[in-house]
Amino acid sequence: MNNEEYLYLDHAATTLMREEAFEAFKKTEIDAYANSSGGHALSRKAKNILEDCRDYIASCFGAAPNEITFTSGGTESDNWIIKSIYSENKSKQGKLVTSKIEHEAVLSSAEWLQSKGYDVEYLSCNKNGVIDLEELKSNWSSNISLVSIMYANNETGVIQPIQEFSKYIKQKDRKVIFHSDVVQAVSTEKLDFHKLGIDSAAISAHKIGGPKGIGVMFLSSKFKIPSFFHGGKQELERRAGTVNVSGVAALSAALDVQQRNLEIEKTIINNERNIFEEKLKQSLDVEVVGQNTQRLCHISNIQFKNFNSETLMIAFDLNGLGVSRGSACASGAQKPSHVLVAMNIPQKHINSHLRFSFGWTTKTGDGLRAADKVIKTIKEMN
Ligand code: PLP
Repeated sequence: MNNEEYLYLDHAATTLMREEAFEAFKKTEIDAYANSSGGHALSRKAKNILEDCRDYIASCFGAAPNEITFTSGGTESDNWIIKSIYSENKSKQGKLVTSKIEHEAVLSSAEWLQSKGYDVEYLSCNKNGVIDLEELKSNWSSNISLVSIMYANNETGVIQPIQEFSKYIKQKDRKVIFHSDVVQAVSTEKLDFHKLGIDSAAISAHKIGGPKGIGVMFLSSKFKIPSFFHGGKQELERRAGTVNVSGVAALSAALDVQQRNLEIEKTIINNERNIFEEKLKQSLDVEVVGQNTQRLCHISNIQFKNFNSETLMIAFDLNGLGVSRGSACASGAQKPSHVLVAMNIPQKHINSHLRFSFGWTTKTGDGLRAADKVIKTIKEMN
């Protein structure tokens, strides 16, 4: 089966690199391959590209250029900010508040802090997958130094009340950093970090049609955190290592196309996702996770009652449909999703969920084609 016939619905894991991003990568590698930290003309050319991209990327998120640091992606950005509150001095150890449904990049960093003796609180979510702000309010304490709440969940697409979190945190203590992992949200939402009241954010290029291994750490100029990598003085001495200028140029090019086409792409994605869900609901015994709350339009988490998700995923794959059990990092392991556990999904259904995620290459008709493949596969299995 070639790529044309195969229907890829795993865009939340990663998506196809856009042609413009490829071109920008190639052009930069050829025309400005020098080290952007060097002192000659070709280095200056690379440095100019880097700074132009930084200006443009910052403008896309309502940020200032010096609030943007390039990283290797979402995982690094999340690790950096969460671990930034670490201090060996016990009296300086502030508390981290996050949620039970964050991405592993946040949760594992939080566990690392706990292993160093830190106090970490994990907020619950309701049955729709919305994180409980009231829990933060009732447990607020003066030693909180960082709150990390994702903009939208990567397994369910459920959007969180970010502005309400921010408003409450700012009103309690302006020294607390409010971090948000916006990796999934950037695929289909237009975000302005300052308007949202986010102090720091993690972004990943490969979710929007840029290359893998490049991303952004946004940090409001009101805050300063220690460097995560040590070595050279790149990135305003915040992140050592030769800068991946071609990756940055590709990210910037991908973002440029994406921002210009966002409304058109969103309309197609939203329509196809809705057609897909409606058709499944008409034909099968399924439940759409978070359907009664605000969701990102590209993610659809479906519960197939009485089916095992692993078995279904393989059967769909054989019928030319690529989907996932949730987060790419967790698939392969038969462990139930921590997100669905936190949502109190009944034990008997917890291993019956699959994530279908649409993206910029989604075409009109894909929703119906996907639903037909799902229905056909399930009928064959009955
Ligand atoms: N955060 C979220 C919400 C994600 O969905 C992902 C990727 O799946 C990441 C972080 C990690 O990003 P990266 O692959 O760039 O490390």
